Amino acid sequence: MINLELFTKIKNETFDILSSLNIPVSKKIVFEFNENYIKTYGSTEYFKGGYKIVLSTLLFKSEKELKNTLIHECLHTCPNCMNHGKTWKKYAEKINSNLNYNIKRCTDVNELEKSLKEEIIKRQKYCVECCNCGQKSFFMRKCKSVNYPNLYKCKCGGELKSYELKGI
Ligand SMILES: [Zn+2]
Ligand SMILES: [Zn+2]
Repeated sequence: MINLELFTKIKNETFDILSSLNIPVSKKIVFEFNENYIKTYGSTEYFKGGYKIVLSTLLFKSEKELKNTLIHECLHTCPNCMNHGKTWKKYAEKINSNLNYNIKRCTDVNELEKSLKEEIIKRQKYCVECCNCGQKSFFMRKCKSVNYPNLYKCKCGGELKSYELKGI
């Protein structure tokens, strides 16, 4: 989990690293946290003439992981870097070779550890389940599909039901 104090510290360290290596990251970056990001550590998008970096609040298990992701996403704000192409790779390699970091192309969580998956599910309060195939979706708060499961259908065509998860 990220708290603001830790994030600010790591963000400052990240920008120090990037400027010490003359990597031209954007000066217009806003940061946002998303508690529903469970498949990706972070993402970068264009935002009001600058960039917005969205980070998962759930996935980071260490400062190093957070810093790696932050560097990865900040590199996307350099000119011609909204992909993992030549320029992005050049900067990533510069960091990796100078600082013994391992900035990888992919920040997706392909195989979430079982315990982490369970931990994430534990934080969820509601479940919407298909009466036909048993497919489950989890939610942290009451959203439309929790309140009105009958308005929706499962991909398989089955009816949905919702219930509150107990014992959390
Ligand atoms: Zn990326
Ligand atoms: Zn189904």
